[in-house]
Amino acid sequence: MTALLEVDNLRVAYGKIEAVKGISFTVEAGQIVTLIGTNGAGKTTTLRTLSGLLKPLSGTIRFDGRPLASVPAHRIVALGLAHSPEGRHIFPRLTIAENLQLGAFLRKDTEGIAKDVRRVYDLFPILGERARQAAGTLSGGEQQMLAMGRALMSRPKLLMLDEPSMGLSPIMMQLIMATITELKASGTTILLVEQNAQAALSLADHGHVMEIGKIVLSGTGADLLHDESVRKAYLGED
Ligand code: ATP
Repeated sequence: MTALLEVDNLRVAYGKIEAVKGISFTVEAGQIVTLIGTNGAGKTTTLRTLSGLLKPLSGTIRFDGRPLASVPAHRIVALGLAHSPEGRHIFPRLTIAENLQLGAFLRKDTEGIAKDVRRVYDLFPILGERARQAAGTLSGGEQQMLAMGRALMSRPKLLMLDEPSMGLSPIMMQLIMATITELKASGTTILLVEQNAQAALSLADHGHVMEIGKIVLSGTGADLLHDESVRKAYLGED
């Protein structure tokens, strides 16, 4: 079986600064794969490259059997790869419903879109209750839900989530993590970038630890969760 996403020897630089230094990993359909690591490890850069926002220096990316090099970002969304970015990036003056519609901008199936809006409101009832309000009035955690909901509106085969737990209370974080598990159960494949290693590894099938642009350790979520070096470096144990 070929993987849904295959990243091979990917290198990405900002000018002379090489932020991603030759990483390789795969994501099989139906899995949750997580990239963990400290600030500046290159996780966000990796996701931005996969969604076509940055051009790699070298290396190959194959998604659903096709090479992604030189495919523009909007075409990548159309192929089924959606990105819920770090820092949320919702449109604060538009309503919650309008923000969700924007996530479906490439689709023409009005009925399917309406069905998926209802699905997002089922996942996150607060968004449905406040559908007609400006998105800027939502709390940080609720905006995070909206960003995830908007990414789901393109009906992605692969959903990339960048730090969905950032700035959230423990209860909100649990809700987001439970939703990620639910999305997996409904067939969505997920690539999750997280600084909260405990939470991410607990639900991931596979994880990769990134340090200064490289993958230094890989394993199943459970293996990494019990790995002594991971526990010391990322789970705050002595
Ligand atoms: P964080 O969790 O802090 O977002 P990260 O693992 O996602 O960390 P990146 O944001 O990918 O890391 O950053 C990787 C490296 O690239 C860092 O050294 C960062 O300073 C650098 N970098 C990121 N964006 C730019 C940019 N626009 N221009 C120059 N350097 C950048």
